[in-house]
Amino acid sequence: MERHDIAIIGGGIAGLTLSKFLAEYGMDFVLLEEHDGFFKKACGEGITPYIFGYNFFDIYESNAGIERRLNITNIHTRYGDLKLYMPVLMTDKEKIEGELARQARKRGADIRMGEKVKNIRRDGDEFLIEPQGIIAKLLVGADGFFSMVRKLAGIKQPDYAVGVETLVENIDMNRDEVHIEYRNDVIKYGYSWFFPKKEKWNVGIGSFKPHHFKEYFDKFKERIKAERWRGANIPISKPLKSYAKGIMLVGDAASHIISSIGAGNITSMICAKIAADAINKISRNGFNGNDTRIYAEMLKPVVKMMKRDYNFAFVANRIIKSEYIRYRIMKKVVEVNSEYYRKMEERV
Ligand SMILES: Cc1cc2nc3c(=O)[nH]c(=O)nc-3n(C[C@H](O)[C@H](O)[C@H](O)COP(=O)(O)OP(=O)(O)OC[C@H]3O[C@@H](n4cnc5c(N)ncnc54)[C@H](O)[C@@H]3O)c2cc1C
Repeated sequence: MERHDIAIIGGGIAGLTLSKFLAEYGMDFVLLEEHDGFFKKACGEGITPYIFGYNFFDIYESNAGIERRLNITNIHTRYGDLKLYMPVLMTDKEKIEGELARQARKRGADIRMGEKVKNIRRDGDEFLIEPQGIIAKLLVGADGFFSMVRKLAGIKQPDYAVGVETLVENIDMNRDEVHIEYRNDVIKYGYSWFFPKKEKWNVGIGSFKPHHFKEYFDKFKERIKAERWRGANIPISKPLKSYAKGIMLVGDAASHIISSIGAGNITSMICAKIAADAINKISRNGFNGNDTRIYAEMLKPVVKMMKRDYNFAFVANRIIKSEYIRYRIMKKVVEVNSEYYRKMEERV
């Protein structure tokens, strides 16, 4: 049997960020990812670099895979365009995940690709991971929306939105802006996005109420011709309880998300950094008693902000029916956030 202090299940942006920082701490761990390559799940590939007092670049420490930085998001509504001033990075997510793995491996991380975990059994204070035959003292679920680690911890699945995306060559829109369509004739209880990457566009559509989705997606597909669409569930609950005895959850597995827009790249990275710091503390007493509660303590400030966003999102995206009222709310959000980001830029 192969033994490690820590096993991470899932090598998406959360698991890879975690492994980078665990490797920096010199921890004994293994990461198991079922796919042979990176970025196998749908994503719009946009990243908000400054949020909740964190800076993406402090965590990522590279420019690899950053294709463009745009400052204006043009929100197209039935009542006119709203221009949000907020830095957004257009990325090549395959490269971002590859770069995180490279940094982690350089620091000594053991990242194993093509290793699907099929079963995990608790054995006293340890976990037996099958079919790999690995025994670990601490288990981290970075295994996305359908997390098997979360199930093992007895934590229920979050509510979800659905989204699909594709890459297209040409869109007749200003390439120097990010575009969001926030209109009931495009999709009710959701939005479509047009993200201008270096050469192509990442275009997608998502709904906070999945049963509304198909009808609008069919219409969207008539407008946007693409060979292949990729889709996935997006957690939109408040952050879930992210720990149990000997277990920690990070990223989509724990609904670590900005649920108002279904964006989880940066929050997964932030929570993964916090998870690494928590594991470093837990390791100091030899993982005794599998007590992971310190992780919840350390997550609290970020969880508070994700909860605040959730409360807003629940009302704005799922309760309010009037398109005009949603527009008025969005207008206010745009004003407040544009001012915040402009002031922040002045300070930098
Ligand atoms: C259509 C769409 C568009 C989106 N657009 C954006 C966006 O523009 N910006 C943004 O910030 N967020 C976006 N998101 C959300 C974002 O993609 C996720 O929040 C983020 O990817 C979460 O990262 P993660 O590592 O937690 O999970 P994932 O990226 O899902 O990674 C989980 C990993 O675990 C692996 N895994 C699962 N089970 C096992 C197993 N049993 N054994 C081994 N490996 C396993 C999977 O293969 C996967 O690689 C979008 C989501 C969707 C669906």
